[in-house]
Amino acid sequence: MSATQRAGADRIESTSLDPQDWDAFRADAHRMLDDMIDYIAEVRERPVWQPMPIEVQASFRETLPRGATPLAEVYRDFTDHIAPYATGNVHPGFMGWVHGGGTAVGMLADMLAAGLNANCGGRNHVGIEVERQIVRWVRELFGFPETASGVFVTGSSMANAMALLVARTHALGPQVRDRGLDGAVPTAYASAAAHGCVTQAADLAGLGRDALRRIPFDDRHRMDIGALREQIAADRAAGLKPFLVTGSAGTVDVGAIDDLATLAELCRDEGLWFHVDGAFGSLGMLSPQIAPKLKGLSEANSVALDFHKWGQVNYDAGFLIVRDGEAHRATFAAPAAYLRRETRGLAAGSHWPCDYGPDLSRGFRALKTWFTLKTYGTERLGAMIANTCAVARHLEARVRREPKLELLAPVELNIVCFRHRDAREGSDIDAFNAAIVADLHESGIAAPSATTIDGKFAIRAAIVNHRTACEDVDRLVDAVLRFGAAREHK
Ligand SMILES: *Cc1c(COP(=O)(O)O)cnc(C)c1O
Repeated sequence: MSATQRAGADRIESTSLDPQDWDAFRADAHRMLDDMIDYIAEVRERPVWQPMPIEVQASFRETLPRGATPLAEVYRDFTDHIAPYATGNVHPGFMGWVHGGGTAVGMLADMLAAGLNANCGGRNHVGIEVERQIVRWVRELFGFPETASGVFVTGSSMANAMALLVARTHALGPQVRDRGLDGAVPTAYASAAAHGCVTQAADLAGLGRDALRRIPFDDRHRMDIGALREQIAADRAAGLKPFLVTGSAGTVDVGAIDDLATLAELCRDEGLWFHVDGAFGSLGMLSPQIAPKLKGLSEANSVALDFHKWGQVNYDAGFLIVRDGEAHRATFAAPAAYLRRETRGLAAGSHWPCDYGPDLSRGFRALKTWFTLKTYGTERLGAMIANTCAVARHLEARVRREPKLELLAPVELNIVCFRHRDAREGSDIDAFNAAIVADLHESGIAAPSATTIDGKFAIRAAIVNHRTACEDVDRLVDAVLRFGAAREHK
């Protein structure tokens, strides 16, 4: 009898949830792992996405399961009803929104993290140390000082909201945490092209969405800094309290990068907090070709970023870095008897991640990020990021060559916005292009998303997945032309 079998036998009478037969469990587990490796390795043979049939949806309307079901049977449900209907962002044909492709390495790391089942809210254990390693690496990558703090969060939506709170507490003083705004009317600034979560952050913080001034952008979709200066001056004159400017490093629509160096200077002059929403673009620092476009990022007071986008870390792995770690802690740390800090034992090792954000219990996101950075190395990751931009330029060139297609925005990084022309008299070109996007999704060939550029409906292809190659964007264009022609001749 092996030790694991003995341990299993001892627990037969207990209510432990461990398997009674570890060998049978091991066989199930190996099959799942092998299947999932095949799922990733053979992703090109499947459609990018497919709609869920009614029966599949119905299978998720069961009543609460009172009895047990063998693991192998639950797994069969997964292979039949779940795996085939996932988002599709593992597939190289997925070009919608800004979704990373993930890696097989990240999948393994997530499994290992689940095995450890570490709670990384705090305490004295290696999960916190690995997260600190990532903080040090991000400092190094962004040229931030030793005093900078960082913390994993779900995504940049959360990181941008937390950055606004840090900037608010820094501007109004720590008493704002107790007394609220107390009559002050703080205002924040971002480009009208900034992500919706930047406005949402003002809402969540109780400032109201109007407190976020949306500044117009230029023809390259970069914030108009003259207009920003005027708005700040007007707000000061009206007795409001400007406190924060958020620059975008890669706007979600077209991948534009605000003039971060000039914004940094303006914020220094005006005494404002300079935050960068670097959700996907800031990891461009990994590429020697892209890093120069991000000049000024190193001067930010804080940066929100997502390892799960260009970094290809499996979901989710958002991150916030703050230059002044004291200001960061002063926003979130709170004494609590049950979170007492000690100098020895498992309660040692303060400060803890829970001092840097609203989450207390949190998983081990740092592990999959650590595995990804170490396994691939920053040179290879940087080359992969640069390559997504090269694939986008290939797509841009193809769109420019096709007489039926029209480019709708400059291609700064990895996002291409275009549309199909419509020669038919009096037809609605926006509806025509929206129908083409839905045709693409349903065909399973490619999954771009859509946006509006200068009032025009745009087919938007964001090349984020490391697997997406030139032939994939060519397949996208071929399919757009085919579906467009079919609709024109209807
Ligand atoms: C994706 C994105 C966000 C939101 O990040 P999540 O990780 O989805 O919460 C914010 N800003 C920009 C520019 C983004 O691309």
